[in-house]
Amino acid sequence: MMDAFTANWHTHTFRCKHATGDAPDYARQATQAGMKTLGFADHMPTPDARWRSVRMDADELADYRAAVALAGRLYPDLRIFCGLECEYLPEWHAYYTDELTGRQRVDYLILGAHGFPVAGEWVSTFSRQRANDPRLLYAYADYVIDSLATGLFRLLAHPDVFGFFYDVWDDDTAVIARDIAQAARAAGVPLEINAYGLRKPPVQTPCGWRPAYPWTPFWEVAADAGAVAVINSDTHAPADLTGAVDQAFALARQSGIRVIMPLDLDARNWA
Ligand SMILES: [Zn+2]
Ligand SMILES: [Zn+2]
Repeated sequence: MMDAFTANWHTHTFRCKHATGDAPDYARQATQAGMKTLGFADHMPTPDARWRSVRMDADELADYRAAVALAGRLYPDLRIFCGLECEYLPEWHAYYTDELTGRQRVDYLILGAHGFPVAGEWVSTFSRQRANDPRLLYAYADYVIDSLATGLFRLLAHPDVFGFFYDVWDDDTAVIARDIAQAARAAGVPLEINAYGLRKPPVQTPCGWRPAYPWTPFWEVAADAGAVAVINSDTHAPADLTGAVDQAFALARQSGIRVIMPLDLDARNWA
């Protein structure tokens, strides 16, 4: 039997400059796919316009919220939420609380570690410049764990994205997988099996070709640690709304991780 993909909490819009379509386009697609819940989580604007080439500007937030609200009016059978996918910087803490979920009334924040600090320098998760350096693995894990501990985030996007810059599953990957899964469990935050990783070109490693992420052994460790998962398509185009989610469900079954579908962000029904 096919698993029902009824909710996606990770949907982008054209505002991030590397996606197409606006909220109503995704809502139409969700309705056609028989989905019940659509959560938008476009890349957060930054208070200092940092990384603005891959995200909306702060003054586009109102337009983003209006587009999501319009999608809700056009497709009233869908439960629609307006969130943001965020990097976390401690110096911006008040920006998340006072501005994003405060004044702008954004419904939820996802943590997406597209970069992380290493000895004071911000390193892109999607750079292979220092690939296979275990210090990067531990810096990534520290960043994710510290960010989750703030309590700001309701989901952890692609926790195994380190598979992009680390090729071989070894003792170090096993340690950080367990640490991240335990931190997520302690924070009551589900881990995302990210189907976008399955739609991207695979990476070549000494052990053969594999998706950069999701990385199956991560999910075996996470299952052992008692973490739970949610499957999202991380869609950047309306036609990709359900792309590769069947593969993501298969990966979940194979690794033994429990998938919460549909996830109710407020009920915390995975506890
Ligand atoms: Zn993106
Ligand atoms: Zn995303």
